Amino acid sequence: MNETTIRPTSRHAPRPGGPDDGTDAGARPQVRPAAEGWKQQLAADGRPALQFASPRRAQPETHLADLTPAERVAKVEALGLPRFRARQLSTHYFTHCTTDAAAMTDLPAAGRDELVSALLPPLLTEVRRLRTDDGKTVKFLWKLFDGALVESVLMRYPGRITLCISSQAGCGMNCPFCATGQAGLTRNLSAAEIVDQVVAANRAVAGGELADDPGRRRGSQPGPAPAARETDRVHNVVFMGMGEPLANYKRLMTAIRTLIAPRPDGLGMSARAITVSSVGLVPAIRKLADEGLPLTFALSLHAPDDGLRDELIPVNSRWKVDDALDAARYYFEKTGRRVSIEYALIKDMNDHAWRAELLARKLNERGRGWVHVNPIPLNPTPGSIWTASEPDVTAEFVHRLESAGIPTTLRDTRGKEIDGACGQLAAAE
Ligand code: SF4
Repeated sequence: MNETTIRPTSRHAPRPGGPDDGTDAGARPQVRPAAEGWKQQLAADGRPALQFASPRRAQPETHLADLTPAERVAKVEALGLPRFRARQLSTHYFTHCTTDAAAMTDLPAAGRDELVSALLPPLLTEVRRLRTDDGKTVKFLWKLFDGALVESVLMRYPGRITLCISSQAGCGMNCPFCATGQAGLTRNLSAAEIVDQVVAANRAVAGGELADDPGRRRGSQPGPAPAARETDRVHNVVFMGMGEPLANYKRLMTAIRTLIAPRPDGLGMSARAITVSSVGLVPAIRKLADEGLPLTFALSLHAPDDGLRDELIPVNSRWKVDDALDAARYYFEKTGRRVSIEYALIKDMNDHAWRAELLARKLNERGRGWVHVNPIPLNPTPGSIWTASEPDVTAEFVHRLESAGIPTTLRDTRGKEIDGACGQLAAAE
């Protein structure tokens, strides 16, 4: 999912209005979601048309990262090679981030190219790479084998490196603020296409693409690296790029199991360092909770009242705010992991103090200590209805939540200058 793909899409004039549940609105206007030049398609039952299933399209060739370790061995043996070649190949791919047969000198030269092309077919072709001036954010635009485009964004924070990745080409959830959603769903990514975004990012980091961590080294220039670079890897993965990850559930889980598998069978990441976000596909959230993995789960709520959320997040027509919050609470109960509520603050649309109070009430009704709210100011677009809340309004919103005992962290957006910040991932060449 990608509440983070919020981008300005409309300049419709604000329309005044009051709160939807009768609580005090004060004098604040109420802007309704609308998308310029685009109309929400409706299904036969009058509800917004949503695409839960991927259109039938050719999938990329099967890759090592689509397979379990046992399946990799079986494939290597089917090629007439000893089983340990699977482990060697995995080490090259997951640990050394290489798919270059010439670099795999521990494999016999005879048959090496065939083995590599059978198990490591190219998946992502780099179209564009943009860096912010400070070198701490890098956006990649990838072309897939069938021409579909996806993006991932690499971010350096003090002490950690985070990668925001895509789970689908396009998205079927049709959120009016989202460039990705308005283009519809092209197809689900394969598990390996998801994993390969992380491997490619690790390769870029090892190559010195990100500015150094100022807390760890002097200087911030990119460039080849001291030995310490070897240990520089993506620490956190967030599924907040293109797509609703829970709509691509099976491949998502295959990818996650590979991300957390110890090396050399996978990338050896911590499940806690992987954040799956969703706009609220309730049955899938419950299924994720039952997987028994301590992943981090983020619910992209953006409105606590169905009146607004029905328009802002069309999937709310299937599962209401209370259903989504109940599922989020279930996630906490099953995993013990505190749930994040993502809330993009949009000027005069969802940033009213009464909404902060309603949100706090709904969260507190479900217990204490299970949830954390992350308000994220929308990227400012003066003159559009999709623009950032005023600083004093933002501060008041946070204050109301905190006063009600809800842990709240106002998030920063990264990479505005390269359109890599929340709401700006719209792959186009
Ligand atoms: S349309 Fe899809 S990618 Fe965009 S915000 Fe909605 S769920 Fe996320």
